[in-house]
Amino acid sequence: MQSLTLSNGRPIPQLGYGVYTMTSEEVERCLPEAIAAGYTHIDTANAYFNEVAVGRAIRESGARREDLFVTTKLFPQSYPYEQCGPDIDASLERLGLGYVDLMLFHQPYGDYVSGWRAMEEAVRAGKARAIGLSNFPLHKVDQILEVATIKPSVFQVEINPYWNQHEYKAALASRGLEGAVFEGWYPLGHGDKGLLAEPLFQELAEKHRKTPAQVVLRWHLQEGNVVFPTTRSAEHLRENLDVFDFELTADEMARVNALPQRPYYVVPEDAPDFVLTHNDYSKQA
Ligand code: NAD
Repeated sequence: MQSLTLSNGRPIPQLGYGVYTMTSEEVERCLPEAIAAGYTHIDTANAYFNEVAVGRAIRESGARREDLFVTTKLFPQSYPYEQCGPDIDASLERLGLGYVDLMLFHQPYGDYVSGWRAMEEAVRAGKARAIGLSNFPLHKVDQILEVATIKPSVFQVEINPYWNQHEYKAALASRGLEGAVFEGWYPLGHGDKGLLAEPLFQELAEKHRKTPAQVVLRWHLQEGNVVFPTTRSAEHLRENLDVFDFELTADEMARVNALPQRPYYVVPEDAPDFVLTHNDYSKQA
């Protein structure tokens, strides 16, 4: 597995397995299969309501904890400093894996400024090896940078060929975060058949004797992104891992990056309803 290096010096596998939208039952069926197939990086969140199942499947997989990279995320209800430490502990308890390799603030709302101190304390206590932000626009990243004694080392945002985030990456590099790692959600378009049917990906798939999904994943790897496509299919699990034996040329990368840009989802400035109504993460099977 190909890895990038985080600012803490630790490796982060570039291709992983995301469990968003998966029920606990689906996680228990599919995650052992993913680990057996060679996945070592798992991305979950307290708001996915499957941390318990993720932890159980990992513990029962027989994989060594130190060989896996596990991420979870906190929703805004957990951000106020007094709440943040206990909620980090609650996620760790649900996972039952001792520590997480990466803890993220999931959504850019609420009291993320005071909560960041609790995230730093979690790093110092060995509960989280690295900390970062998901879906944070630049002006909210700046608010964190103003108070941070440990800077966010990972930014998880929408990234796919229709929204390559070149501007966001450049803007963070200009803030002294050149070593930041970018994780892409909706890496394959979140099930949008139009993306994989894009004529360019059909053409490149034929040329490289791969599938359009593999071409898109290869583009991500060469862009330096970390991705963890979701799938419940054993075939797609294997297909998505089989992207290390070919390379897109510089010209092919440029053609992908010339596709018109638009996000699937625009992160609103103020908290949308689905953020405000999520809260009781303890209810997990
Ligand atoms: P995705 O782009 O991974 O799309 C998943 C869809 O692609 C599924 O319908 C799946 O069946 C299909 N698929 C997977 N492999 C395929 C293949 N080889 N060929 C054809 N179709 C294939 O989008 P996603 O699932 O939303 O995102 C991936 C992960 O990103 C999530 O599990 C989660 O970990 C993370 N995520 C994070 C946020 C955030 O706000 N931080 C938001 C969304 C997702």
